[in-house]
Amino acid sequence: MGISKKGESDMLINVVENIDKLVVRFPGGMREVNCYLLKGDNGYTVIDTGTYTKEAMDTWKTFLESGVVVEKVVLTHTHQDHIGLAKWFQEQIGVPVFTSRRGYTEMLKGRNFKSSKEKLDGLIKRHGGEGLPDRLHDDSIIYDFEPDGFFEENDIIQLGNHDYKVIWAPGHAPDQYMFYQTNRKVMIVGDHILNNISPVIGLWNGEETNPMKEYYQSLEILKNYPTEIALPGHSEVILDFDSRVQWIKDRHDYRLDQLLGYMTENGKSANELSKEIYGPINPAFLLSPFMATLTRLIYLESLGYIRRVEENGKVLFGSLTT
Ligand SMILES: [Zn+2]
Repeated sequence: MGISKKGESDMLINVVENIDKLVVRFPGGMREVNCYLLKGDNGYTVIDTGTYTKEAMDTWKTFLESGVVVEKVVLTHTHQDHIGLAKWFQEQIGVPVFTSRRGYTEMLKGRNFKSSKEKLDGLIKRHGGEGLPDRLHDDSIIYDFEPDGFFEENDIIQLGNHDYKVIWAPGHAPDQYMFYQTNRKVMIVGDHILNNISPVIGLWNGEETNPMKEYYQSLEILKNYPTEIALPGHSEVILDFDSRVQWIKDRHDYRLDQLLGYMTENGKSANELSKEIYGPINPAFLLSPFMATLTRLIYLESLGYIRRVEENGKVLFGSLTT
């Protein structure tokens, strides 16, 4: 009995005409990412790449060995699991890479691992946490390249043989972009909407902005784009897009109400509240519940529903005093 080699056709899952999905697996984090391959006359346009790991690289090597041509790589956002192998594609495979101009300016250019790690560590401690786990390793290498081209909000870009409109949807990431194909009502959503989980809204660069407010606004934008099939960065494709969007919105509303119920006059830190709400956490995702709680608290504070108390460099959130 011979062992047949895995080839192109075994690895791809067809999701819509001329669009295939390649699930790239890797250890840690989300453990897998969906990369989409859009067939065109000049080869495939690849959307997102997987992490900078041997496992993810091997998957792509096997795929490329079958002789397929990749025209370009286009990224939905610059989180590690999406951008991880972009530089590798550019330098080792000779494929041009396109990112958003915003992603390049804010996330790639002048990126300094040490200072962003310190900023994030400071943010976590200020909000009652113990700081960053030591195991966080330097990821500068994956961000250290010059993209071959950029896209911006409202641009029309060619992916495969079709034109797509570029939509900016900040919230999950400040540089989260989606690509919409009007005729077929196909939306490549990145991690803005996922089928299995509610995307984490966090402050991963350590700066205290209000991404929950942006996320709600980015959910509203979706009403302008009737979608029959949405292609997310993780898990299964989404066929009932409107109800999935509504579910995620309702879930955030529920969590906001829940947080309001936990407020006391003296106040509690984001870390304390996160533990009360989520309970014991799988260490691999230690920061996600904390971040989700913190961004909701910042949002509630911006709406005037709760107040912030700062003492000795520590932040607490509490109910409004009457
Ligand atoms: Zn992401």
